[in-house]
Formats: sequence, C-alpha cells, structure tokens
Amino acid sequence: MRGVVVIGAGHAGVEAAASLRAGGYNGPVTVVGAERHLPYQRPPLSKEMLHDGGDPDALSLRAEAFFEDRRIVLRHGLALDIDRAAQLVHIAGDRPVAYDHLVLATGAAPRRIELPGRSLRGVAELRTLDDALALRASLVGARRVVVLGGGFIGMEVASAARKRGVEVSVVELGDRLLRRAVCPPVSAAVAAHHRAEGVGLWFGEHATELIGDAGHVTGVRTASGRVLPADLVVLGVGATAEDGLAHRAGLATDGGVLVDRWLATSDPRIVAIGDCAVVCDPSTGTRRRLESIQNATDHGRYAAARILGEKRPYYAVPWFWSNQGSLRLQLVGMAEEVDQFVVRGDESRFSVFCLRNARLTAVESVNDPGTHMAARRLLERVTPSEAELVAADYDVRALARRAMARETAVA
Ligand SMILES: Cc1cc2nc3c(=O)[nH]c(=O)nc-3n(C[C@H](O)[C@H](O)[C@H](O)COP(=O)(O)OP(=O)(O)OC[C@H]3O[C@@H](n4cnc5c(N)ncnc54)[C@H](O)[C@@H]3O)c2cc1C
Repeated sequence: MRGVVVIGAGHAGVEAAASLRAGGYNGPVTVVGAERHLPYQRPPLSKEMLHDGGDPDALSLRAEAFFEDRRIVLRHGLALDIDRAAQLVHIAGDRPVAYDHLVLATGAAPRRIELPGRSLRGVAELRTLDDALALRASLVGARRVVVLGGGFIGMEVASAARKRGVEVSVVELGDRLLRRAVCPPVSAAVAAHHRAEGVGLWFGEHATELIGDAGHVTGVRTASGRVLPADLVVLGVGATAEDGLAHRAGLATDGGVLVDRWLATSDPRIVAIGDCAVVCDPSTGTRRRLESIQNATDHGRYAAARILGEKRPYYAVPWFWSNQGSLRLQLVGMAEEVDQFVVRGDESRFSVFCLRNARLTAVESVNDPGTHMAARRLLERVTPSEAELVAADYDVRALARRAMARETAVA
C-alpha cells in the first residue's frame, strides 16, 4: 500500500490528514509542506500577530506530537512535480513519495501586480507567518502606512496599524470596501468604523507608481495624480490559487484546480481542496473558489471521507469571519444575485438578510454573533421564504429552533 500524500500543510491539508486517521485509515499518510514552520493558523496573521506580543508558537494547528502519535509524516519541502503515471510526487531535496490517493491542498498566493517601485524596501504583502513577522517588524518604526486594496486582509492590517498609532490610508479601486464579499449596508458600516478609527479611505483610486528614495518607499502615486506619503506600503489586492503544480501535471485548471462535486480533479486519484480548488457544479453551471477556514476545513474532512468511501457529493453552507479592531463581521451563505436586502438592528449591531427570489440565501452580521450562529444553524437545514421570515419577524433563532425540532422529530 502506497497510502495518501497531501501536498500543502495548511488548514485544508492538515485537516485531511487528521480526518483520515480519525476515520480509521491505516495506510501511510504523508503531508508535504513548503514552509519551514509547523503547520499554523493563518487568520491571526493579519490580526493578533501584528500586535506586540503575538506569539508565533501559539499559532500551531497541531503540536508536533499530534502528527507523531498518528503516524502522519510531515515532509518539509516544495513538491516539484507529480508523475501521474507512476503515482509519485517529486520533492525538492528529498526522495520522491508514492501515492494511492493524492490530495492537492496548495492554497493561494498574494496576487502579483506590476507596479513601478514594487521592489522597493518597505513594500509588504501578507500570506505567510514569515510575511507577518516581517510586517510586524516594519510597523514598529512606521509612521505612515498606505494599504492598497480595501478587502478583508487590507482592512484588518489597517486596523492593526491604527492600533499601533500609525497613520493609515487605504486606496481602493471600487466605490466601497469589501465590494466582492458583502452587501452595501455592511460596506458602509465597515467604512464608518474605519473612518471613526482615523483611517483615510480613498475610493475610485488605484496606485500607478510606488515612489522611493535611496531604495526605500516614500509614497504612492495614484491614477488621479495624488501622492500619498508612506514609509510602509501593504499590498492587499487579493490572492490567486496555487495551481501551477496541478497544471504542470496536466490536470484541468482555470483560476484554480478544477474539481467536480466530489472534489475530484480530472484525475480520479487526485482531489483538490481549500483555496486552490475551483468547485464546478454542472447542474447549476456555477464555478466557485472560496478562501476561508470553513471551506478549507470542510474540504479537508470531506477529502478524507471520500478516500474512506463516502459516495455523496460535497456540501456545506459557507461561512466566514473577519475581525477589524472592535468590528466583528460574520457572513453565512452565498450572497449571489441577491435582489432584496432586509436590515435588522441598529448601526452598532445589525444583520442584513439577503434574499434571492424571495428566499433567504445569506446573512451578513456586524457585531451580531448570536444572529450569525442562529443563521448558520438555520441555513444548514433550510432556506426559509420571505413569508416565513416575515411571519417570524426575522427571528432566526426561533426559525432555527423550529428547523432543528423538525429534524429531531423526523429522526
Ligand atoms: C492574513 C490572512 C488572514 C485570513 N483571515 C481569515 C479569517 O479571518 N477568516 C477566514 O475564514 N479565512 C481567513 N483567511 C483565509 C484562510 O486562511 C484560507 O482560506 C486558508 O488558510 C486556506 O487553507 P488552505 O489549506 O487551502 O491553504 P493555505 O493555508 O494557504 O495552505 C497551503 C499550503 O500549501 C503550501 N504549498 C503550496 N504549494 C506547495 C508545493 N508545491 N509543495 C509543498 N507545499 C506547497 C503553502 O506553502 C501553504 O503552506 C485568511 C488568510 C490570510 C492570508
């Protein structure tokens, strides 16, 4: 028996390996990871880790003994090539490893943008623990930070920098923050929060050049000709799937590794999970690549279950969170083609109910964790109609309780 090889020791890969053992898989399990650290949690990198005293050792996903006890072999090194005919993975500086099943969990990388001055010192991006440690060190001496991109990571970094007393400006191409992920009322609340914290927001703008002096960045020139002074520039312009290895191996890729509803790639012995996977649903024509802990973890669990014999397709209701200073943002469901928003709460704490064709499809919550948790319980079971929501006065806790009671009665 050759066993299972997982490429990528992030949230998805480690969850797949751990779930294989939890599910009783007895063969060899090898996780190949390019980073030098023990597998670690990524979300704190743009939050707690940027504050003083954020301890990198506290980020480990599992202790070293966890892997040893479960006979999960961690191999540090870059997987260079997959020989699909021989079912072998070639690893830089190490002997190849053979597989019966291969799990691709290679994640994503910061989107590369061509920008004059990109290689100046004081220009940072954030994906890895090493990036976070370098950014934290740069923040210590910084006075003025410009963040390019008003997405989740950009706004979390903006909060962390403000907390350190650094002057912060955010340059966003669109007309609102978190445009691709949240509805306009939530964007407005996020913008109000950051403005109140003293963050400068520049909408409808993009950087055309990073200006420097003696090799170090001193400012950002924008398309409108404005120059924003900066001694630190953080690029937060999104991420692209790490699908080069899959592409070189001849697997179907298109903005990520293409997988079916069972997370199988175009080679049935190989699944792709987490940030690197684009899930295609032929019945609806949708293609979706998500970047979230929920998605990585659920994919990891499902990949293990599939290897252990699961026949049902993957299904999970997506959810996500982002903490930006005191602002707590939580999303559940998919707010695609939403035609109706219903806002409940006040400006300090509210949830937006997103409906499509008079059915609840997503709930976006600002400082409203109780509603978020209830909406998760609800949407995992049913998608209530507008009439049902109105009848319950949008009390998702009551609706969730009822849905759970019905489930228990049926069981
Ligand atoms: C700063 C930051 C903050 C975030 N905050 C949140 C949050 O608050 N909430 C949330 O839900 N999500 C958050 N996310 C997103 C979340 O962290 C990702 O969705 C999740 O980490 C994806 O897990 P993954 O295992 O698919 O990929 P990753 O965690 O990226 O792991 C992939 C691993 O594969 C390795 N790898 C790639 N290619 C190879 C190769 N050829 N050989 C060997 N190893 C390879 C990489 O080095 C990497 O370690 C955040 C992400 C970042 C970067």
